[in-house]
Amino acid sequence: MVSASQTSHAAGDTLARRGLMFILSSPSGAGKTTISRMLLERDAHIRMSVSCTTRPPRAGEVDGSDYHFISQTQFDKMVEAEEFLEWATVFGHSYGTPKAQVKAGLKEGQDYIFDIDWQGTQQLYQKLERDVVRVFLLPPSIDELHRRLTGRGTDSPEVIAARMERARSEISHWDGYDYVVVNDDVDACFAKVEQILAAERMRRARQTGLIGFVRELMAP
Ligand code: 5GP
Repeated sequence: MVSASQTSHAAGDTLARRGLMFILSSPSGAGKTTISRMLLERDAHIRMSVSCTTRPPRAGEVDGSDYHFISQTQFDKMVEAEEFLEWATVFGHSYGTPKAQVKAGLKEGQDYIFDIDWQGTQQLYQKLERDVVRVFLLPPSIDELHRRLTGRGTDSPEVIAARMERARSEISHWDGYDYVVVNDDVDACFAKVEQILAAERMRRARQTGLIGFVRELMAP
């Protein structure tokens, strides 16, 4: 057991803690990918939960790192064997969060980022409410989102209109989240997301090492 003298000023950083599931959702174009990358680069205690998907890899995507790219047959077998914490169909493809790694990691105090949509968020919340932190990022305005989704000006007005429609539908689920951050400046948005993570890590219920620590503090 750790004695009170050993733990003096750094006790809060060394006490045993249950990991958390940090869900970042947003309409595409609101900066979710950038913010998750920044978190992964700057915070050694959080890791990405890598989903399985049946959609084909895009240029530059790496199997096992961006996604586990699997066939529909493999996906269906995993659903059957209850190997997903949640799964959903998004734009005609199946996406799912594999259960094994995350469940074991949480017990060991590992935090995970989830880049999943609102359907997956709801399912995770229903199953693992106490571990889940739901964060939704919004664009600063619809004009700015339009600008970001217009890309390099090579897409047809129909393609852009479809992206805007999809973004509006994603935004309509904003009220299923614990925290909402407007991303008008990436550094400011990141700072806010970091604050949410820091506060959530200090929740009493997650700090499993507190009981022994406090008992020692209170010992006569
Ligand atoms: P993309 O194909 O562009 O990488 O992702 C499409 C959508 O699927 C995004 O909204 C993303 O958040 C969502 N998504 C990715 N992985 C999962 C997953 O494991 N479960 C669910 N429910 N959604 C996912």
